[in-house]
Amino acid sequence: MCGREMLTKLTAGAVKLDGGGGGGIPALAGCEAAGMLAGLSDEATAMALYRYAGNQGLEHVLFYAAYRRIVDLAGRDKWSIPVGEEMLRKLTKCALFELLGTGICPRCHGTGQVIADVDGVRKCCTCPSCQGIGRRRLLDGQVAAVIHRSERQYRETWKPRYQLITRDLGLWSSDLECDLDKVLRVSMKNSC
Ligand SMILES: [Zn+2]
Repeated sequence: MCGREMLTKLTAGAVKLDGGGGGGIPALAGCEAAGMLAGLSDEATAMALYRYAGNQGLEHVLFYAAYRRIVDLAGRDKWSIPVGEEMLRKLTKCALFELLGTGICPRCHGTGQVIADVDGVRKCCTCPSCQGIGRRRLLDGQVAAVIHRSERQYRETWKPRYQLITRDLGLWSSDLECDLDKVLRVSMKNSC
């Protein structure tokens, strides 16, 4: 589905920004949401609709978009992939589980960014707990179990690759949160 089709669906109603029932975040009017999504990639748009408009049907769209990127990464980095283990598919599942999960990172509260002291200057940095995806991360042992490796084997070979994957896919999320932040500021200013 292209971004334009998604936007058409979105403008039909307001979008909740807390990803579920309740919460203190105001609902965004359809036109504001459409304005926000207009500048996003198709993948970030699909993620917005999945997270905030409850469009669960987009999970498979995101899965194949993520899978294609991971196959590209594997090719570029020349990973040796064991034949018949569907390793990339399993890693895609883990990464999407983290990216689309409902568990918000307790350190950055879902924004993917934290304020840190860098050489005595307060700067906005990528959250070290979630590496910018704003969601709770899987433990090493959990990813290792999914790909049928010991934790030691995972840490030695697959963890650096998995981190590359989540950093890459995390860009969809950080693009989205950044735009969301801008739209919310304008929206709150207008309502004052
Ligand atoms: Zn975080």
